[in-house]
Amino acid sequence: MAIQRPKGTQDLLPGVVEKWQYLEEQIRKICREYGYEEIRTPMFEATELFQRGVGETTDIVNKEMYTFLDKGDRSMTLRPEGTASVCRAYVENKLYGGPQPVKLYYTGPMFRYERPQSGRFRQFHQFGVEVLGADKPIVDAEVITLVWDLYNRLGLKGLEVHVNSVGCPTCRAEHKIKLQEFLAPRREHLCKDCQERYEKNPLRILDCKNPTCQELTQGAPTTLDTLCEDCGQHFKELQELLSAAEVVYKVDPRLVRGLDYYRKTAFEVLVEDIGAQSAICGGGRYDGLVQEVGGPQTPGIGFAMGIERVLAALNLSGGAPDVETKDYLMLVALGERAQSEGFAIVSRLRKKGLPVSIDLLGRSLKAQLKAADRTKANYAAILGQEELEKGIIILRNLTLGEQEEIALKDLEEYVMRKYREDVKA
Ligand SMILES: [Zn+2]
Ligand SMILES: [Zn+2]
Repeated sequence: MAIQRPKGTQDLLPGVVEKWQYLEEQIRKICREYGYEEIRTPMFEATELFQRGVGETTDIVNKEMYTFLDKGDRSMTLRPEGTASVCRAYVENKLYGGPQPVKLYYTGPMFRYERPQSGRFRQFHQFGVEVLGADKPIVDAEVITLVWDLYNRLGLKGLEVHVNSVGCPTCRAEHKIKLQEFLAPRREHLCKDCQERYEKNPLRILDCKNPTCQELTQGAPTTLDTLCEDCGQHFKELQELLSAAEVVYKVDPRLVRGLDYYRKTAFEVLVEDIGAQSAICGGGRYDGLVQEVGGPQTPGIGFAMGIERVLAALNLSGGAPDVETKDYLMLVALGERAQSEGFAIVSRLRKKGLPVSIDLLGRSLKAQLKAADRTKANYAAILGQEELEKGIIILRNLTLGEQEEIALKDLEEYVMRKYREDVKA
């Protein structure tokens, strides 16, 4: 039996991969314009990093990690997300010692052991941004504006940013008590996961997708009810800045992101989806995380988005522009001597940057011209035994169907001149 790719992974073939490249180019472009630099961290890390950095009570750490022992009996995990690794790199490379803030972005594969029937991938891809070393609301506003701007440039429809403040440890302690008071009489009706969350992290009950839990938490006290003065001021300023940047946003007090290290700002970007809105980006402030992974107390904020999700949204709103691989010239060589002479010509043209192909199968004239048609080449240059002896080559304009004979020695200069004219036009 033929070997198949692992469940939950995908082969990105030509025809599809161009859409990915388009999105990746847009991402790199906007990051450069906003002054964010790329960071590339390892695909696997010590398991402990994610236990500490993502939080031991989260589903990611409890159920979804690809963890293995390496040959030295160390527990390693394929990265399930990007933020913990970026914070680890920030600490390990002492980036906190240089100019602040450090504005970084990453793109690449992430790994989670998800049930394949849920339509999710086990190897999926994320783009994310992290700003470390700055705690002012203007940083939060810049990060949100970057993703807002990206989605608008992509032409996504029905965009809306949802923001909330989940407070800090001080105001969250008060909220926790109020929330537990509210939930106490309802506790036994909550789902099994939420019953466990009740003691450790009741805030996450507000985030539960179980319909019963959602109903039971209607009217529950939100973190906005108990924000301390500092958190309240931060949230107010953030909203003013978002308005100033003309970002369409809405305060959503039920938006509590599932990870333990979030502080103050939490946000999502929603997009029009089939029949409803759905989130295609999530992020927030995580002022406690760098310390959690062994660094100095450092504020941080970031977001991550699933590339697959954004591409799906892009398809709904008209899609990425079609990009195709296209030859300018197809060199049609007939016979062994013509082939080796043709290969020399093609090599020289490629050095000059011309998109050019030569037949690799020893096909007939007809088959080679058909192939040239398929790649939508502008010209075919036909070289056979007879042309070689006369020192000429036939240049056929495939769009107009016209052809002319030119001296073999003049071909390169002639074609390059036409190419430059066509590129300019
Ligand atoms: Zn607070
Ligand atoms: Zn629940």
